Amino acid sequence: MILFRLAIAALVVVLGLHQAAGQTPAPRGTLVEKPWEKLSNKKLMEFGEKALGANPQAWKHGETEHFVFHFQELADAQKVGEFAEAYYRQIQKDLGVTQDRLTRKNHVFIFNDGEEWQKFVKIVRIGEWAMGVARRTELFLFSPQGSRFATGAIGHEITHCIFYRFVPNPVPLWLNEGFAEFESTHAYAKFRDLDETRYGGRRPVHYPLKQLLAATKYPKEDVSKFYAASERLVRFLLMEQDRRRFLPFVQMVASGAKSEDALLFIYHDQFKTFAAFADAFEKFNQPPARQNEP
Ligand SMILES: [Zn+2]
Repeated sequence: MILFRLAIAALVVVLGLHQAAGQTPAPRGTLVEKPWEKLSNKKLMEFGEKALGANPQAWKHGETEHFVFHFQELADAQKVGEFAEAYYRQIQKDLGVTQDRLTRKNHVFIFNDGEEWQKFVKIVRIGEWAMGVARRTELFLFSPQGSRFATGAIGHEITHCIFYRFVPNPVPLWLNEGFAEFESTHAYAKFRDLDETRYGGRRPVHYPLKQLLAATKYPKEDVSKFYAASERLVRFLLMEQDRRRFLPFVQMVASGAKSEDALLFIYHDQFKTFAAFADAFEKFNQPPARQNEP
């Protein structure tokens, strides 16, 4: 399953790279710099090995509670570390899951050098415009020197990595991308104490529901609508329905059930038929009252 999406992030907010004076990061997000030899986990996957190259000592390294970082600029890693741990906590809460199926940490690689990043982009075969990509538990980010991260994209990719820790099997494409889109707004808003209604869900997204649920490949057209509709559907399940049913639903489709069947099974007392579910979702998907618009 492809685990990246870096077109135009729905939420384009930038994170400053430097901690405000006197601001102390959350203890669990605090990054502790360590030499390569002292890292708690040095086992990398295929792309992680390629990213680090033959000489891990050429990178700096560090760890937070759930992530191992490889970087050039400590400030980048500290900021992403704080952000990633906040995402971890929020996703754990939203899924209502206590058991992380992995004990080892995720690896995060932060490139600063444009040429090195472009070399890596070719290896992973993503678009040269990409600023980050997730592959299972590994996350690769480009932070151009002197620039700042676009956290909308980072949040989406971080969510993919974290979701993988709690759900062992692939889930349908709409659920994987929709959850990443949802958390890139929701977890960010919680992290920054922002009103998330300012960022998303203001416009209806029209995408054929059955087509969305059954998709196994990214559509050739209307990709942004596919992401947006997926996000709306996840938001509908997490914010409008009993959130405690979301994880059983995810586990059921991860075990091979079709989305449509699992929706009707898990939410059976709410929706007797798929048409009833589609109606309720369509209502949720309607635009808000327009009295404040010019
Ligand atoms: Zn994605």
